[in-house]
Amino acid sequence: MPRNSKCRRVCAEPVHHIFVPERSSGQVTLTVEELEAMRLCDLEGLDQDEAAKRMDVSRGTLQRILYSARKCTVQALVEGKEIIISGGNYRVAGEPCQCRKNCNHCRFHLNKIKELESDE
Ligand SMILES: [Zn+2]
Repeated sequence: MPRNSKCRRVCAEPVHHIFVPERSSGQVTLTVEELEAMRLCDLEGLDQDEAAKRMDVSRGTLQRILYSARKCTVQALVEGKEIIISGGNYRVAGEPCQCRKNCNHCRFHLNKIKELESDE
């Protein structure tokens, strides 16, 4: 079976890219899709099936990305490492989420578009 290298869908590019502790003892890198998996599951509170649908990956892949993201983040918090958010295998969605409920990012984005349209 050929390896599926399809990129993971994310709602948007991250806004912040570098976090630095008071005394840095190294760096960890969080990929953009790792941040997205944590955003969907831990911040938006989606279950893993729905998060997997949003990111256009299997549930197994979502879980792998999510656990790797949490490990990387908690390591930085506990050990005082810088978090660099960069790279990965992802594409920024051209359209808002199509799931049961819109995520905060896409809801914000849609309101912004409506505002801009109503100004014209
Ligand atoms: Zn979204």
